[in-house]
Amino acid sequence: MTHFDCLSRVQSTCSNSTGGRNVYLTFDDGPNPLSTPEILDVLEKHRVPATFFVIGAYAAEQPQLIRRMIVEGHEVANHTMTHPDLSRCGPSDVRHEILEANRVVRMACPQASIRHVRAPYGIWTDEVLTTSAGVGLAPLHWSVDPRDWSRPGVDAIVDTVLSSVQPGAIVLLHDGCPPDEVRPGTEDSLRDQTVTALSRLIPALHERGFGICALPQHPLTK
Ligand SMILES: [Zn+2]
Repeated sequence: MTHFDCLSRVQSTCSNSTGGRNVYLTFDDGPNPLSTPEILDVLEKHRVPATFFVIGAYAAEQPQLIRRMIVEGHEVANHTMTHPDLSRCGPSDVRHEILEANRVVRMACPQASIRHVRAPYGIWTDEVLTTSAGVGLAPLHWSVDPRDWSRPGVDAIVDTVLSSVQPGAIVLLHDGCPPDEVRPGTEDSLRDQTVTALSRLIPALHERGFGICALPQHPLTK
């Protein structure tokens, strides 16, 4: 079982001003006290929505950022409590990782409607999919991955997205870093490339006729 059973593109049926040429921005591994506010500022400046797959342990430390995401019209989604490789977790741990993250987000913001889950590293298992479905979470993968976490340079991030983006694309970016990958002394520059790339990507996508949208409310279909 790989990610083939979860959604990595959105089939657009809605017609709007962009004629269905919608793309979806997603950010994983936050909230981060330095990077996430910068990402939110860029999104706010351009008035575009995004989905944040947050790590529960970070959400517990930064509840004000969860509230800011919701207030500013973004979706907060589940990226587990501690970001483990769920394929190495037993059924009760999988359940705990997913339910705890939901609980923490709701504690930060009771009106948050948590609709989606993304498995850490995109490693999906039947257990993860079954558990997610049981608590009403739809699994969401991605179709465009510029590997911004590896700091390949702003140009590389922008070029990778623009060269591979198609209508319905789900773009994977990062506003934070998993707990076991944090390197001391790198916090200040952790996601500076992502922030700069985002400020160039949004206008570039608009110029190419793409609308940057919130994920559809209706149940997603493959
Ligand atoms: Zn992650």
